[in-house]
Amino acid sequence: MLLPVFTLKLRHKISPRMVAIGRYDGTHPCLAAATQAGKVFIHNPHTRGQHFSTSRVFQSPLESDVSLLNINQAVSCLTAGVLNPELGYDALLVGTQTNLLAYDVYNNSDLFYREIADGANAIVLGTLGDISSPLAIIGGNCALQGFDQEGNDLFWTVTGDNVHSLALCDFDGDGKKELLVGSEDFDIRVFKEDEIVAEMTETEIITSLCPMYGSRFGYALSNGTVGVYDKTARYWRIKSKNHAICIHAFDLNSDGVNELITGWSNGKVDARSDRTGEVIFKDNFSSAVAGVVEGDYRMDGHIQLICCSVDGEIRGYLPGTAEMRGNLMDTSAEQDLIRELSQKKQNLLMELRNYEQNAKAESSGPLNETDGQRGIIPANTTLRTSLSVNLGNETQAAHAELCISTSNDTIIRAVLIFAEGIFVGESHVVHPSIHNLSSSIRIPITPPKDIPVDLHLKMFVGYRSSTQFHVFELTRQLPRFSMYALTSPDTASEPISYVNFTIAERPQRVAMWLKQNFLFPEDTNIQSAPFQVCFTSLRTGCHLFIKIKLSGEITLNTDDIDLAGDIIQSMASSFAIEELQVEADFPVYFEELRKVLIKVDEYHSVHQKLSADMADNSNLIRSLLVRAEDARLMRDMRTMKNRYMELYDLNKDLVNGYKIRCNNHTELLGNLKAVNQAIQRAGHLREIIFMARHSGSCL
Ligand code: CA
Ligand code: CA
Repeated sequence: MLLPVFTLKLRHKISPRMVAIGRYDGTHPCLAAATQAGKVFIHNPHTRGQHFSTSRVFQSPLESDVSLLNINQAVSCLTAGVLNPELGYDALLVGTQTNLLAYDVYNNSDLFYREIADGANAIVLGTLGDISSPLAIIGGNCALQGFDQEGNDLFWTVTGDNVHSLALCDFDGDGKKELLVGSEDFDIRVFKEDEIVAEMTETEIITSLCPMYGSRFGYALSNGTVGVYDKTARYWRIKSKNHAICIHAFDLNSDGVNELITGWSNGKVDARSDRTGEVIFKDNFSSAVAGVVEGDYRMDGHIQLICCSVDGEIRGYLPGTAEMRGNLMDTSAEQDLIRELSQKKQNLLMELRNYEQNAKAESSGPLNETDGQRGIIPANTTLRTSLSVNLGNETQAAHAELCISTSNDTIIRAVLIFAEGIFVGESHVVHPSIHNLSSSIRIPITPPKDIPVDLHLKMFVGYRSSTQFHVFELTRQLPRFSMYALTSPDTASEPISYVNFTIAERPQRVAMWLKQNFLFPEDTNIQSAPFQVCFTSLRTGCHLFIKIKLSGEITLNTDDIDLAGDIIQSMASSFAIEELQVEADFPVYFEELRKVLIKVDEYHSVHQKLSADMADNSNLIRSLLVRAEDARLMRDMRTMKNRYMELYDLNKDLVNGYKIRCNNHTELLGNLKAVNQAIQRAGHLREIIFMARHSGSCL
């Protein structure tokens, strides 16, 4: 079994995800981690007695080998690494909601300290694309910014939502790194410098990303999912009821391939095979894991995997030796596996006995009451499933609907549905009360986003008196645009916003694409071109017109710029379109944007006025203080008292002014986010062309 080669217990708490290792003097690896009350500690076990004392750094009163760095604000991201290759040692980078500090720990000096309007939720350090110098890239309120060693922002772009995770990875295998961005809108976006080249939609906020090797990378979601992607394809994933705090790639079994190491909220650390997700090693801490990093902490030439818990426990593991042949777990884990397998064997044997008995009963004549109880149903029983749109009523909102029915008088006792991103916990069980059992069942389905989803169904079929049931299993795909109902164009008003493009496909193929991606009533007949179809969004009630001309010219009328983008993307991938000329106009949308920009301007000028007021007030405070002090020296207590009363009032005004400033700042941030998202959306129509071209070259 693989045991830690060292264990330390620091007397400082560690904030989750805020852990990094750096060689701040170019030689000795030191652990840096954010701790409570706006401080970062640096653990230096290598050079005892070397202490710093400047305004930022002081020695920990708890431990002699720990220095503390004062940030005076909650730390929201932290990393360490080479920012200036000429220095020969690592920089420490600490981000907060308002600033980014690049710190030279060795010389006790700031490399730079920058104000960050959009906050720093995530940070990654390294080279991006063709930009020659290493960048400290931070992600915040819809914005991405990359700084060089002097604090110049050489990289800036916007993304769809608040950024939660970042990683650098050579996604397309051209030897240069792309930026992976995980955000609050469940998307993983891949940036080739400032251009989006791929976008993968997940089912929850992407909390962590890490490069594995080549184009393969690990990811973690806020719902306890971890997994591995290779380019745009998901390799595997698992879902736990605990939260994955951090992930890291490390070759723990020495087979030359990195495993995905995950640190969990319940104190577990596990290593999973990059190919299968199978656990090859696990260990437990007594508190939640805060960070997983790697470094040669013992300075003996071997890199250790280093795991830290929120309580300050640090364990280092060396990769398994050749003699262990990849068996990193102890024998009790093996026994667990044997127990699990024999349970499986028992279950299968029971199932086999049932089949044998059923076969015997079937050959002995027609069905009777006891056969029904044992779950025997007519051999020709089949299940029919269909998907449709239900417009809802006063008590139920409009939704997509799955209808399942049996081909005879058998009843459906229960239905289990497994589908990502639709149900809480990814599964849904429908079991009608005993009085409502029938041979058909309707299940409402409300996908929150327009993405195609596989519905994995298990249906229990039998009779009312049955105690055992026959289980039917099948998978149906819910079309991407299932939350749109076909509407008569006469009853709908045509949106003025539109996208126009021409594709070299026969109109019949476009009709087929429509049938695959929307839910049509069964009797719908799409005539030959030119034709138009009109849909109503079940979520917003807005209309969508799709018009197809014989020439292949297609016009989409919708005020929803995201929907237009999604439809073009879906067509582009169905028809393998590599390049598409798109003409678009969204006047309603741009009018909204114009209003937001005016607001942003207003908030900016209020901000400037408030800042000027504050500067005036500080001058006034200085003079009042001087005059109060003069009065004290003259023993003129009355004047002194009056001056202090004035100061007191001024202080109250300042506090009020500060509150207004804070509110103003919050409003400004909200509006800036809207602007950032607008820029991204407008870019989306353009990116589609690029993405289509890109995926073409991938194939
Ligand atoms: Ca690349
Ligand atoms: Ca390995």
